[in-house]
Amino acid sequence: MTTGDRVELLGVTPERARVELRDSLREWDQPEYRVEQILSWVWGRRAVSFSDMTNLPVELRDRLEMAFCLSSATRSFEARSTDGTIKHLWRLEDGEQVESVLIPADDRVTLCLSSQAGCALGCRFCATGDLGFTRQLRTAEIVEQYRDADRVSVEAFGRAIANVVYMGMGEPFANLEPVLESLTVLNAGFEFGARRITVSTVGLVPGIRALAGRPEPFRLAVSLHSADPELRRELMPVERRYPLDELLAAVRDYQARKARRVSFEYVMIDGVNDSSELARLLVKRLKGISSYVNLIPYNPIPGKPWGPSHPERIDDFRSILESGGIPAAVRTPRGRDIAAACGQLRLERELSEALP
Ligand code: SF4
Repeated sequence: MTTGDRVELLGVTPERARVELRDSLREWDQPEYRVEQILSWVWGRRAVSFSDMTNLPVELRDRLEMAFCLSSATRSFEARSTDGTIKHLWRLEDGEQVESVLIPADDRVTLCLSSQAGCALGCRFCATGDLGFTRQLRTAEIVEQYRDADRVSVEAFGRAIANVVYMGMGEPFANLEPVLESLTVLNAGFEFGARRITVSTVGLVPGIRALAGRPEPFRLAVSLHSADPELRRELMPVERRYPLDELLAAVRDYQARKARRVSFEYVMIDGVNDSSELARLLVKRLKGISSYVNLIPYNPIPGKPWGPSHPERIDDFRSILESGGIPAAVRTPRGRDIAAACGQLRLERELSEALP
């Protein structure tokens, strides 16, 4: 919540931001209406510095700068793909770097943001897993990715971000409190609709239950990648902690409370998890859940032995799901030329920076 002694205004709930500002303004003999004036700069006009707040007295701006903080990350790298995807690396105060990706499609732009620096869960097909875990992101560090990427979206695509997905580096529910708080800041502060925010998890059951307990209609996506527990355990060590049965029970409970369709992500790895038998098992496992399956051809990562499934295999897999009553779509990976797979850009930059 703080950097040094300063309060991060993007890192606290709107309620808390109002209390903090009101207390400080009172101490400085400033009128209370300034609270909303300041917050309309923060959330409405996406101010990155108090010096932007030109309708405030200069002396007040200076005081705010000393007591509060609006930015702690800097954009350290930007890569633009030929397909329009824009990837950013953000350098945090301590030198850590995280990624976010802007993905334009049809008439809307989706932001994929990070919730941790690195990740401890070690999914075998993931570049972020290879980086290992460094630290949790603070609420403000998550929200800042949205605020700053939204500016880029308007400049580059002429439109604001329409959807946010927590699907970048890290497992959101392994950083539960800051992630839940960031949802509040985006929704209640920046007035970004809860239905347009999706939290994607590899299956941390307590997080799914916490999201189900929220009153707002945030969306849930679950990375499944295999309906066979044994294979899933091989691909995703998290399966040992939260086995498939327990995970799907939590998804069913989420659905009972929220009455919303749940997306399942399924990375299609050639010869590993793409057989017809596994498609039929998936149909069986998802029975009774209102679901949508995204089939994502694996985005090859240097040093990994795997490749994407053949298009005919993916088609076959999809038609088995659909004839089993489960809607499914094939998602073309975006930004292949700029290493847009989660964690890949940072991994590649670190490797190239390490070279003489
Ligand atoms: S897929 Fe997600 S949870 Fe698994 S290692 Fe990568 S970032 Fe972590």
